This record gives sequence, C-alpha cells and structure tokens, in this order.
Amino acid sequence: MRFNTALLHKATKPDKETGATNAPICQTSAFAHDSAETLERVFAGKAQGYAYTRIGNPTVTQFEQRINALEGGVGAVACSSGMAAVTLSLLNILSAGDELIASSALFGGTIDLMGDLSALGITVRFAEHITPQELEPLINEKTKAVFTELVGNPRLDIVDIRAVADFLHNRSDPIPLIVDSTTATPYLITPLKLGADIVVHSTSKYINGSGNAISGIIVDGGRFRFPPERYPAFEKYSKFGPMAYIAKLRGGIWRNIGACLSPVNAFLNGVGLETLGLRMERLCSNALELARFFEQRGIEVNYPALERSPYYGLCQSQLGGKGGAILTIRAGSRERAFKLINSLKYALIATNIGDVRTLVIHPASTIYLHSSVEARESAGVYDDTIRISVGIEDIEDLREDFAQALDQLEG
Ligand SMILES: *Cc1c(COP(=O)(O)O)cnc(C)c1O
Repeated sequence: MRFNTALLHKATKPDKETGATNAPICQTSAFAHDSAETLERVFAGKAQGYAYTRIGNPTVTQFEQRINALEGGVGAVACSSGMAAVTLSLLNILSAGDELIASSALFGGTIDLMGDLSALGITVRFAEHITPQELEPLINEKTKAVFTELVGNPRLDIVDIRAVADFLHNRSDPIPLIVDSTTATPYLITPLKLGADIVVHSTSKYINGSGNAISGIIVDGGRFRFPPERYPAFEKYSKFGPMAYIAKLRGGIWRNIGACLSPVNAFLNGVGLETLGLRMERLCSNALELARFFEQRGIEVNYPALERSPYYGLCQSQLGGKGGAILTIRAGSRERAFKLINSLKYALIATNIGDVRTLVIHPASTIYLHSSVEARESAGVYDDTIRISVGIEDIEDLREDFAQALDQLEG
C-alpha cells in the first residue's frame, strides 16, 4: 500500500455492525458488561473489551492503530495533547537521578517542560545539535534517553536519525532515541524505520490538519530493550518483550496521570489523517515557493529545502527533498516584524502550526516569552524572527499578500 492509500485503508475498516465508513464516535465514559466476572476479566486484561474511556475507548483505539501502522510501530498510545505525549514518553523511562539529553532547538512548550523535570530530580543536558560528536561529551552512566525534534520547530534543523540512532545503540550501555516528528509527519519521514526508538507527535498539528482539536500520540518501535539493570522500573514489564514500553505506559503513568484523548477528538483526527498526504504535498510546495519568493526579495529566510540551508543534504536524503510547511524570516527588527505581520491580509496571527490556513507569529514575544535570550536564540528565534506556518491557499495569493506587506514595510 502506498502512502495515500494507507491513510484510507490501513488499520481501518467500515464499522462491523453498521457499515459506517467513518469510525463511529463512542462518546461514553463507561462500558457496561453482562456480568461481574466479565468486567473482572476486562480489568485484568484477560478479556477483550473496554471498561472506562480514560483507560481505553474504541474510537481512540482505532486512531492509535492507524498512526501506529503509518509509523511502523509495535503500539501507540494517544494523549490529550502533544505536551502530554512528550511528557509521558519521557516519564515512562526517567526517574529521579536520571539524565536526559535534549536538543536546545525544541518547541517552546517542550523547553519549558525540561525545566519542570528538574523538580522531579531529572537533569536535562542540552545539545546545540543532536550529532554523535556533540552527544558524546554529554553522556554518562546516568544518561537514560535522548530527545530531539525533526524538523526542529522553529530552528528547522534536521537530525541524521540513522547516524544518531546507531551511535546511541552501539554503546556498551545503549540509550534510546525519542523523536518528536510533529512537523515532519509520516508523509516526510518514519523515524522508527531509520532506527529511532520512540516517536511522538502533537497530532493537534498536521495530522488533525484543520486546527480543530488538541491531541498527541506516542508510538514505540519495540526494539529498545530497557534492561532492568539500567531501567529498574521496567523489571516487571520485561515479560512483554518488544511491547514492554507500551505495556508500562498504558498500565502505568499514562493511565494514572489521566491525559487520555477524547473520543470526539480522535474522530476529528481520523478525518484529518485521511488528507494528510494531499495537504502535505500542497503545504510543502507552497512553503518552498514562498521561501524562494523571500530569497528573491532579499529577505533572510530559513527553510531546509533551500539549497543554501545547512540541512539541504539531510532534507534530500531523509525527507525526499521536501522541507515541511514551516519557514522563518527575519524582518530586521522587532518593530518591522510586527508591522509586517500586521499588514498581512490572509495570514492569521495565531500560535499554531499545521493548520490548512497560513498562520504567522512573532515567536520571541509569544512562544519563547519565558525563555532566556540565549535559549531562544539557540532555538533559532531572534528578536526580528517571524515564523510562518504555510497553509494550502493558492500560492499566488500568498505571494501577493507577502509582497504587499513587504512593500508597505519598505514604502
Ligand atoms: C505544538 C507542538 C507540541 C505540543 O503539542 P500540543 O498539542 O500543543 O500540546 C510539541 N512538539 C511540537 C514540535 C509542537 O509543534
């Protein structure tokens, strides 16, 4: 099955009972059973079935299975938000005293989360670039995971997944690689197939596609073994073999924190997922055209599919030459950035990505408000940076809109 066919037909079938082509929304909190014995078996995981939506729901299950199939995982767990997915993917592994290495160019919310981890006794070390060379000096016996984004939002850097995964796995104490693949989506890359261990998404973004529901998901590749000598909390899950990470997550921190996905949002994501391929194709081509337009106008633009980008090579080799739908430009000053943003007719001023509409934001005064200048510049955010999340509008309209806004700036 090729990508667009898989979006429609992989891990999804018309409803058995009614033939409904869209998965019915099971908008319920609890599921009744015919005897106390049956419910006992469901609770013990000894019988198929559902008990309570925080722990499992058929609409959510179908969404999990579809994403799992697209990413090539052994199992997926959906969450109430992308941040819940990022948080739980880490807390399923890390305990007090452990260390995590993270890219310094992460989404603002994830950078903020790294600060929260220190209160739990987890130390986070930041690497400017996730490469074997920069990771090596940061690794010690307490290092239990490495976390990165691909494509970095908003620095738009691209990690060489295979090289980093090989480096982390070929050590005497292997370390798992977690990739937040929100901005790339399975349309551009399936990190598990290149050796990453766990993939997370904010499915609020490209997978939902219309900006109408907050959600996230964690997918496990099932290859990392989490040896109990180094990961003592995995002791009682070893018996699950390649499913250990997912079994621990589902039976532990995910269920207990209660960050479950609502059935309606799972349904909306399922609808959005079906056009992911079409949207990404259009988004990537609009973004590239817009990036070239800025280049021609002499505006400093960052987009990984441009020949000038330091990530052009990895964009070709790992992402099939497509650069995703986010680009950043530098307006010259904060005042000029605000004026440019305010002059746009179509682009909405909003803090989101992955919408069908073009969205713009000044990250330094919003998403990175709580970060130090050093931290935000390391994430590729300067005082004059504008982030553009390109939509599916007609490219001529987008070009004309940015042209008139630039004319106003210069005029
Ligand atoms: C938006 C985003 C998140 C957080 O997701 P929410 O659904 O907003 O909680 C995490 N990582 C990346 C790369 C994002 O863009």
